[in-house]
Amino acid sequence: MARKIEPDCRQCRREGRKLFLKGERCTSKKCAMERRPVIPGQHGASRKRVTEYGTQLREKQKVKRMYGILESQFRKYYEDAVKSKKVTGEEMLSLIERRLDNVVYRMGIGESRAAARQIVNHGHITVNGKRVDIASYRVSVGDEIAVKDNKQELEMFKSLKGTHTTMPKWVEFNSDTLKGKIVANPTREDIDSDIKEQLIVELYSR
Ligand code: SF4
Repeated sequence: MARKIEPDCRQCRREGRKLFLKGERCTSKKCAMERRPVIPGQHGASRKRVTEYGTQLREKQKVKRMYGILESQFRKYYEDAVKSKKVTGEEMLSLIERRLDNVVYRMGIGESRAAARQIVNHGHITVNGKRVDIASYRVSVGDEIAVKDNKQELEMFKSLKGTHTTMPKWVEFNSDTLKGKIVANPTREDIDSDIKEQLIVELYSR
């Protein structure tokens, strides 16, 4: 599948905030947003005037980049949220959060969403005992997510055993058994408060 080609740190500089795309590096002094937090390009630092449309577009791009989602998929989340009759922006974010790659990231199995996506794509994860290798798979309340039994001895999973990860209250994960569960649907307060989803709704409603 076609994926974004812009380097991760450049994406953060473009959006003017940390998107946490590179795991441990993002919280270290090596983070490009710590060292050079300016918009990339020759005139990046001097770009100032932004239109209403530009603000809405930037917000959408920011969220797409945070979750590593392509435009067609992202619009589908918006359309599904509209059909749901719930608050569109909140439902859109909730549906995105329920992607399997994001869940694997939230449980601390992958150090970034990109790493989590790779773990899923490589078939290391099961949902209710069955292997699922589709990163966009939508989890539901009660689903049991686990590292596949015959993959638990891989170094990247062995090193997780006994560790503690802070995770949102809608997921549970036992780092000894490498098994977890979806205990609720994510609500707005479980999701990055810095996202202005209303701007994205306004953009797609134009
Ligand atoms: Fe963004 Fe992480 Fe790169 Fe920092 S290290 S600029 S947060 S991807």
